[in-house]
Amino acid sequence: MCQVTETYHDDMKQDELPSESKKCVKCKEVIAVVAIKAGDKYCRGCFELCFHHKFRATLGKNRVIFPGEKVLLAVSGGPSSSSMLRQVQEGLSPNAHKKLRFMPGIIYIDEGGALDQSLHERQQTVTKLEDIFKASGFPYYIVPLEQVLDLPSSVITMSPSSQQKASSYKASLDDFIRKDTCSQLTPEQKNYTSFHLVQELQTQQLRQLINCFKTLTAKEDILSNLRQHLLVHTARCEGYNKLMLGDNCTRLAAKLLVSVSLGRGAQVSQDTNISDSRYGDIISVRPMRDYSAKEIAFYNHIFNVPSVFSPNLNTKIKEKASIQHLTETFINKLQVDFPCTVSTVYRTSEKLQTTCMSSSCTNTRDRCLLCMCSLDSSQENASALKATQISKCLSQTQTGVANSALSPIQNTESKGTTTENFCKGEHCETSVEERGCCSVIRVPNSTDVTSLLCYSCQLTIKDMSSVDCLPQYILLEAEIRQRRSRMRDEITDFLLDD
Ligand SMILES: [Zn+2]
Ligand SMILES: [Zn+2]
Repeated sequence: MCQVTETYHDDMKQDELPSESKKCVKCKEVIAVVAIKAGDKYCRGCFELCFHHKFRATLGKNRVIFPGEKVLLAVSGGPSSSSMLRQVQEGLSPNAHKKLRFMPGIIYIDEGGALDQSLHERQQTVTKLEDIFKASGFPYYIVPLEQVLDLPSSVITMSPSSQQKASSYKASLDDFIRKDTCSQLTPEQKNYTSFHLVQELQTQQLRQLINCFKTLTAKEDILSNLRQHLLVHTARCEGYNKLMLGDNCTRLAAKLLVSVSLGRGAQVSQDTNISDSRYGDIISVRPMRDYSAKEIAFYNHIFNVPSVFSPNLNTKIKEKASIQHLTETFINKLQVDFPCTVSTVYRTSEKLQTTCMSSSCTNTRDRCLLCMCSLDSSQENASALKATQISKCLSQTQTGVANSALSPIQNTESKGTTTENFCKGEHCETSVEERGCCSVIRVPNSTDVTSLLCYSCQLTIKDMSSVDCLPQYILLEAEIRQRRSRMRDEITDFLLDD
């Protein structure tokens, strides 16, 4: 019979837990200090080795970064990107086992302006980050998000790819080794902080832009697009070919579900894959995608990786405030009871491919104006999207809106413009009457912009109170694309088929 008071229970427990189970699974000698998941226990030394190895293995396996290439690390100060910075530092250190062979730089985008932070708070965060960046010895750029308002429209055009083929990896490696390695990896000390140049007016404009969106879901979506534009622009200006992002697999799993929820099914693979070439010349790489948030937190704690907390739109808000936040909470809660959730979801992303990745979509202007993915909105007549568009169009006709929302081409035709009225400015073919001069940007109405966006971005813009609030570079590019398609329509009978 079972007797609670009997003492042999303690002896049994000790027998059940032999000292072997407390030891590291790799070296099987030292007592483990980290347990990533059941059965995965490591000692300090082995955990560090495995962590470093995974980073180099991800980069090595995919061969996305070529020896001697300039790579811009996007560091937000959060645990994941701070850990990424540490991995690059470790990989470049002289005593590294398998050395990394690229030239890193760091970029931090200060989004305080969009989050109603005071200049003092922003300055404090920047100072802390600057200390970390200076200690790394890499060149760094601290760019306020306000600068997105001054971007040129070329940011949202796809530049011809300068990506080398995998076969040339070996050649560039040999070339790199032949050159003096030491001089190659000493980056020019170029620290660039445009933080003090922020003007109050620009901050107001940025806030106005963000506040134009009614829901937090749309606000987060536009903010991530603007951030991406600024990253790509800085990379292009400073001569970087690759952009390294700190997305870990926990975040990518949530991102996959968010993408699907936001109608970005066609873009999921680009949003979550190891490398993303939607901008053509600048390739985004996600080397942290094999690490879980828990693993990174352990590493940062054990090896004293400094990180700086800066709030975002999700800070201190309710669980259901935005689709992004809700999905993240959902994934994290599910992960507690089912430890394979994150890996299962994010591994799925590796298997996803879009059919529209062929050469038919390589037209540089055939891209979404905001997210730069291939347009998925030109569907066949029998699609659900077409049906929605038709019913929207019909309801507008009934309310008589259709008349006032005549497309610009129809307006131009009715006016019967002559060539004398055309502005002589470069890249400007529109009549002076219609838009004044090329220096003044005519704001396209919302239907104009909508046709240049993918399905998901259309939903984001629909949430906006006025399209006029969009940054000038986006409106300017919309204008340019519309003029081109108008011109194409006019001469379509004389063009040879592709
Ligand atoms: Zn060990
Ligand atoms: Zn889009």
